[in-house]
Amino acid sequence: MQAVRTLSLDQAASATPDLARLVAAAEVGAKPPGDNTPLYAPRRKIYPQSVHGTFRRIKWAVLLVTLGIYYLLPFVRWYRGPNAPAQAVLIDLPSRRFYFFFIEIWPQEVYYLTGLLILASIVLFLMNAVAGRVWCGYLCPQTVWTDLFFAIERLVEGDCREHMQRDGKKWTAETYARKAAKHFLWLMVAWWTGGAWVLYFADAPTLVKDLATFQAPFVAYVFIGILTFTTYTLAGHLREQVCVYMCPWPRIQAALTDEYALNVTYRYDRGEPRMAVGKAAELRAQGKSAGDCVNCKQCVRVCPTGVDIREGASLGCIQCGLCIDACDAMMTKIGRATGLIAYDTDINIKRRQEGKAGFVKLVRLRTVLYAAIIAIAGGIMIFTLATRDSEGLSSIHDRNPMSVRLSNGAVRNGYTIRIVNKQLRRRDFILAFNGLPASLIDFVGVPPRADGQLLIDVGPDTTREVRVLVTDYGDTPPASTPIVFRLTDVATGEQAEASDHFFGP
Ligand code: SF4
Ligand code: SF4
Repeated sequence: MQAVRTLSLDQAASATPDLARLVAAAEVGAKPPGDNTPLYAPRRKIYPQSVHGTFRRIKWAVLLVTLGIYYLLPFVRWYRGPNAPAQAVLIDLPSRRFYFFFIEIWPQEVYYLTGLLILASIVLFLMNAVAGRVWCGYLCPQTVWTDLFFAIERLVEGDCREHMQRDGKKWTAETYARKAAKHFLWLMVAWWTGGAWVLYFADAPTLVKDLATFQAPFVAYVFIGILTFTTYTLAGHLREQVCVYMCPWPRIQAALTDEYALNVTYRYDRGEPRMAVGKAAELRAQGKSAGDCVNCKQCVRVCPTGVDIREGASLGCIQCGLCIDACDAMMTKIGRATGLIAYDTDINIKRRQEGKAGFVKLVRLRTVLYAAIIAIAGGIMIFTLATRDSEGLSSIHDRNPMSVRLSNGAVRNGYTIRIVNKQLRRRDFILAFNGLPASLIDFVGVPPRADGQLLIDVGPDTTREVRVLVTDYGDTPPASTPIVFRLTDVATGEQAEASDHFFGP
C-alpha cells in the first residue's frame, strides 16, 4: 500500500521555487506573478429605466417624507420657555444639550441616546426578519439620495434609452450642456443637504441669515463643504458601489436573515423555462409546459444596482421592489397574472413545486424576540424619561488632603458638590447631610440663613458647583464614615441625594 505524505505549506514551498512564489504572493494578499486577472470587476455604468407601479409609488412617498423631514425639521419651532432654545430638534454643543421636542437630554443622560441606537438596531433586525432589506430598499439615506439623483439625471438626460444613445455617440454641445446642468443640480441638492445638516446644531433661521451674510462660524462652512462633497460623490457617482462594496449591512443582514423572511423573489417555478409569448402559446397548445418569463429583461433594466433578480439572491439586490413593478407591467401587457416577481420565500417556491400551498410565517421565535426587546427597551426608556428627576446632586471628595485636624481637635473634610437644575426656572435648594451627628456643614462663600440652613440658588437649566466643608466635633470618627448629602427644593420639596464618605485623620 502506498504511503501518503502530507507536507506543510512551508515544506512544499521550499520544495518547488514556483510554489514558493505563489505562497509568498498569497501571504501578502497579492496576485501571483504573471496573473493579469483584475482584482475588481470593472464597473459597468448603469442606466436604470424609469418604472411605474406600487413599489415605485411607495418609494416616491418615502423619499418625499424622509427628505422633507430632513430638510425642514430644523425650522420647526418648539417653545420651551423664555430661557431655552425654541428649535424642536437641536444639538446644542456649547451648552452640551440635545433637544428633541419636549425631551431635553443632558450630557450625563447620554445613555438615552445609546438606548435609542440599540433600539434602532433591533428595529432594523426585526425589519430584516420580516421583509429582508427593507431598510436598504426604501429608507437608507444612500438609497433615498441616489433615487433623487437618478430622478434628476432622467429629467435632464432623458430616460435609459435616450441617455445611453447620447452617451454612446460623439459628444455634442447639447451633451455637454445636459451633463453640466445635471451636475449643477446634483451639486445644488448636495449643497442643500450639507446646509440642512449644520442647521441641526444652531438656531436654524439665525444660522441661515449668518450663512448668507458670511457671518456664520467657519466650521459651519467646512461641514457644509464636507457634506456637499460626500453627498455628490456617494449619490451621484458611487451609487450602487456603496451598497455592493462599501456598506457592511448587506453582509451582516445575510448572517441575520432566515428562510422565512420575505424577499423580492423571482418565482422560477412559474417563470421557467422562459421563452417568447408566441413560443409559450405554441408549447402550451401542445400540452407542454412553458414558463411565464418572456425574457424581456425589463426587471434588469429598471434595477438601480444592475442586478438580474432571476439569477437568485445577490448582495447587489437592495430589495427595492422596482423589478416587481416592471414585471407586473409586462405580465399585465401580455395578459398573464402579475406576481412573477414578488415578495416571497424560497420555501414557498419549493412547496408549490410539491403541490402545496405557500404560506407567510411572520410570527417566529426571532420576530417575537425582537418585538419583545423593542417593547421592553422602549417601555423602560419612556418610563425613565417620564419619571426622571428634574434636579441632580453629586459629590466629589477632596483627594489631598483627605481630612484635616483643626487646632480645636475637630476633623474637617472638603467636598465639591454639583447641583443640577433641569427646570427652566431659577430654583432655591437647601443642602443638608446626615451620617455624622456632631458635625456642621459650611459652604465656602455661601453664608447660612438665619435658621442656620444653607440655601443655594441655581439658575434655570444650569449646573452649579459649590465647595462644602464638613467639620466633625464629636469623638474622633472612624477611618471612613458613610454620609449622605440631601438636596431639597424649597418650593416643591423635590429631593435628590448623593452618598459619600467622611474620613478620619
Ligand atoms: S433586483 Fe429588483 S429588488 Fe433587487 S435591487 Fe434590483 S430592482 Fe430592486
Ligand atoms: S420582467 Fe418579468 S418577464 Fe421580463 S425578464 Fe423579468 S422576470 Fe421575465
